[in-house]
Amino acid sequence: MTKTISLLGSTGSIGRQTLDVCREHGVAVGALTARGSIDRLEQQAREFQPRLVAVYELEPALELKRRLSDLDIEVAYGLDGLRRAASLPESDTVVTAVVGMAGLWPTMAAIEAGKRIALANKETLVCAGELVMEAARKYGAEIIPVDSEHSAIFQCLQGCRDRRAEPAGGEVKRLLLTCSGGPFFGLSRYEMAAKTRADALRHPNWTMGEKITVDCATLMNKGLELIEAMRLFRMPPERVEVVIHRQSIIHSMVEFCDGAILAQMGTPDMRLPIRYALTYPHRVMSPLPPLDLLHCPPLTFAPPDLEAFPCLKMAMECARAGGTSCAVLNGANEAAVSLFLREEIPFGRIPQLVARALDAVPSQPARTLEDVLDADRLARECVQG
Ligand code: MG
Repeated sequence: MTKTISLLGSTGSIGRQTLDVCREHGVAVGALTARGSIDRLEQQAREFQPRLVAVYELEPALELKRRLSDLDIEVAYGLDGLRRAASLPESDTVVTAVVGMAGLWPTMAAIEAGKRIALANKETLVCAGELVMEAARKYGAEIIPVDSEHSAIFQCLQGCRDRRAEPAGGEVKRLLLTCSGGPFFGLSRYEMAAKTRADALRHPNWTMGEKITVDCATLMNKGLELIEAMRLFRMPPERVEVVIHRQSIIHSMVEFCDGAILAQMGTPDMRLPIRYALTYPHRVMSPLPPLDLLHCPPLTFAPPDLEAFPCLKMAMECARAGGTSCAVLNGANEAAVSLFLREEIPFGRIPQLVARALDAVPSQPARTLEDVLDADRLARECVQG
């Protein structure tokens, strides 16, 4: 059971829910980091009294230092500050709740320090998954997924003796990744082309940050999760299947070689996978009301519509192609989603810009982090230019 965490990305949706779990279970906070949101960060620092607080830039760091001058809290900034937070000696677990590729360096720092990583930053695994997983093996860092689908799969795999996907002979046949379908489920590509920021931010089942909510509307989120699942569980893409399940009650499933399918179910609430990542291999009492199956809507399952949601189709192609194509996909998507969130492009333009980047930036083998970062930069330039 985790005693002290470093929380990277404390002011976002996952960060705040992680602090709820810390409050409920008396987990101490050794370090907090955030990009902006100085007011909220100050409030969190006053409540949890970490040893270190780190922000990205100097100006907000100086402001925060002034505000926290009555407390014995060190304020750091920049990449160095983030790395120090990620490798703080007293933290046994590092929760990575940073949005986007920006999570890569601090995640690597936490891995090199041999921490347990409660991973909520899927972009890192999508772009540099093989390198990240290899580093985790080398430094003995345990990666426990926080993404609800991957936590569900991880939970279903407990007790499975032979998780090898390759060579054939492992007990796992397929991973079934459930997908709510997002706010535009059932619409054609034409009908969703002109949807706005406000339309896309209305998710039917989950309350989340803005970037991921848009990714849920394009189904890019499910595509990124497919790649994340391949990396985490060492599965080839053809053995990860996306299943539309509108109710978000089943959070994902594992099909075994004997035909058994195990599912993890629960009320859609991120605090469950966060709590499990902190307490694994144990479970602790949750203060949340349990799922009431007798008052659940009927559970339905359907295949995804790849015509209507080209982002998912492109992600499936990148999953098969491998190399830096996943980094190009992700970088182009991050850049396109940020244009959409600034209301500079309509919804239908997101998949077009991602497709343009995938055409323009050739895929290379992803041998080093530099290969990945180059692909990411070229993809962003292609979308912005
Ligand atoms: Mg998810």
